[in-house]
Amino acid sequence: MPRVGIPRAFSYYYFYPFYRGFLEALGAEVVVSPRSSRRTLDLMQACPTDEPCVSVKLCFAHTSWLQSAGVDFFFLPYMVSVDPANYLCPKMIGMTDMLRVGLGLPDARVLAPTVDRKDRPGQWERTFTEVAARLGVGDPARVRAALEAAGAEQARFRRLCREGLTVPEAIARLEGREVPRPRRYSARARPDPGLRIGVAGHAYILYDLIGHDLVNRLREYGRVFTAEMVDDETAAREVATLFEGEKMWYIEGHLLGAVFHWLRNCLVDRLVLLEAFECGPMSIVENFVQEEADASGIPLLILTVDEQTGEAGLVTRLEAFMDTSPRADSRTLRVSPLLHTTVFPQRGPEPRQLRAGVVTMGSLEVGVRAILQECGVEVVRLPHLGKETVELGKELAPEFICFPMVTLLGEMRQLLARGANMLLMVMGKGKCRLGWYAQVQELLLRRYGYQFEMPAFNSPFPLRTNWGPFAHVVKHVAGGASWPRIIRAFRFGWRKVVLMDEGERLLQRWRAFEDERGAADRAYGRFLAALDRADSYRDINRAWQHYREELEGIPTRDTDPLHVRAVGEIYVLLEPLVNKDLEKIVGTRVGQRVWVHRELCASDWFRLHVFCDRRLRRREEYVRHAASPYLRELVGGHGAESVGGAVLAPREGMDGVLHLMPFTCMPEIVAQNVLVRAADEHDVPILTFIMSEQTGEAGVITRVEAFLDLLEERRRVRRSGRATVGMPTGRLEWRADEVS
Ligand code: SF4
Repeated sequence: MPRVGIPRAFSYYYFYPFYRGFLEALGAEVVVSPRSSRRTLDLMQACPTDEPCVSVKLCFAHTSWLQSAGVDFFFLPYMVSVDPANYLCPKMIGMTDMLRVGLGLPDARVLAPTVDRKDRPGQWERTFTEVAARLGVGDPARVRAALEAAGAEQARFRRLCREGLTVPEAIARLEGREVPRPRRYSARARPDPGLRIGVAGHAYILYDLIGHDLVNRLREYGRVFTAEMVDDETAAREVATLFEGEKMWYIEGHLLGAVFHWLRNCLVDRLVLLEAFECGPMSIVENFVQEEADASGIPLLILTVDEQTGEAGLVTRLEAFMDTSPRADSRTLRVSPLLHTTVFPQRGPEPRQLRAGVVTMGSLEVGVRAILQECGVEVVRLPHLGKETVELGKELAPEFICFPMVTLLGEMRQLLARGANMLLMVMGKGKCRLGWYAQVQELLLRRYGYQFEMPAFNSPFPLRTNWGPFAHVVKHVAGGASWPRIIRAFRFGWRKVVLMDEGERLLQRWRAFEDERGAADRAYGRFLAALDRADSYRDINRAWQHYREELEGIPTRDTDPLHVRAVGEIYVLLEPLVNKDLEKIVGTRVGQRVWVHRELCASDWFRLHVFCDRRLRRREEYVRHAASPYLRELVGGHGAESVGGAVLAPREGMDGVLHLMPFTCMPEIVAQNVLVRAADEHDVPILTFIMSEQTGEAGVITRVEAFLDLLEERRRVRRSGRATVGMPTGRLEWRADEVS
């Protein structure tokens, strides 16, 4: 009988009954790692990088325990989407690959069926059948029976939870065990059977050692309700009242729906939200919880934990909250402020009074502004972006939201201060947080008292369902301009964007060969200004021609530059405010010549995702294929492209890779994690920059200097015919809070 190990982390807390039911029906012995202990926290060091949230590190710890327990197989399903409308958190999607690569688990011992009901709805059963075959069960009838047994076990589990058992209690009941009553925690707590306390948090945090047994501590004060006690239909119905709420990540959508259900139906008197430090999805969810709790008058406590969180501090906050929170008048039902809130159209001013504010990502704003002006829409210009922009964003932004959202929020406040009454923002919901930016930014800005409208652009694809709403937004934003005028305007703005990106590619090259440092940058600066002023194609072409001539006029010499590839999250890659103008820092080093290569740019993103450019599609597939030994599931953003781009770098003539990501960026945290092994196996030096509002330019420069010195040394060694394998790949990591 094969021994199959299941780590007591992550999806164990949501789907273990299904896993156990399936594996045991196939005759396997299921081995679950023991409950987390101090020893488990030590094993978290098995996680190759420091960036992931504590939940990922716990999964590493539990899986490495199973390694030492000598199980035959590791059951590590790819949990991508369990509901056709949404995904799971990118870190959960990437967990199997992080464990496989980070712990060096041989494929032969990893059982990894894939559950992706959103993009590959019909495939999950086939992948479970493949697992059955690897466990020696090829009989389809037996596999079907095992899946049915698993489904029945899962349904029993959900029923026990709805009947008021917590996840561990329901699992114990399924296994014929009773969970022992916990010891008494607080001498101060005065039990009040009438007090109802709602607790919402990831089960893999709440019921793990790092959750400090919160549920049982609160049971000493009153009756506790947890999210798993709310049935899926109710939670889904409630969260769907939020604009595109059904697209919220599955687990977090259930949490939020449960919270809405409790608050809107006066089912709790207190609410406690438990989050992991740096949790991506909760940095979005908490805003909607706060809004609903404020409107309901129900006291809310948000607790954030990680492996460093001390029990004493947490207990003090809990006791203070329980002792001092007023008993809300929860008899009166009330209308939620979030009900059916759409981001568009608010009863904003009539089209003729529109004053549009365009946030930016690199030079994209120049193109968008040109389009709006060509449509006759008044556009408010952004001021020079800098420290003030970041401070304004930080003032309103949730603690662990990704940095791009912070700077965009700051830009929005600067635009509103300059008289904008319409803010443009993209909105397409995918695996990462970008799709929720617009709704959270609107919520935060309105809560602060700003009046405006925020038409958010969703993808026009699939045209059958999305073209109508998309066209409606375009028409409104264009001030009611005719379609022929809108198309002409788009072409004009697009021309500017394309030339800006082309111009930047030339700049990256000229920096590497120019005789006089900075000459190319000055020429590019003049080109950008001329392009921005251009209000005809003739002006645009003249600006472009002039820039090319200026470059050709710059004296150059053969400098034998280093070649460095820049990969990472698109906003951080393209926005100098956030990346500290890193490409310029690297490309204009005195005494060191570097040609920075970056494939990602605004115009190519558009060509690939809107115009479906075949050349770019082939390149994307090639890069993702190169990533696949390390990342088999797409985790959103440009995670796969970062891994593939780094793996291909040595083969494509690069001396090193710069990996840029915003603090807490989920897809890039997964990429960074698997890149540890990839860097060693492909002998490619990678310098990772994790950018946040604490990023200091001096620190960036220090790191760049050390990295370029290493690349030059490696090149010298390579050219002397000696191998560089074994030389430090220089996988330097620089956390934003290492301020210097
Ligand atoms: S970021 Fe949040 S949702 Fe994602 S794995 Fe970590 S704790 Fe879970």
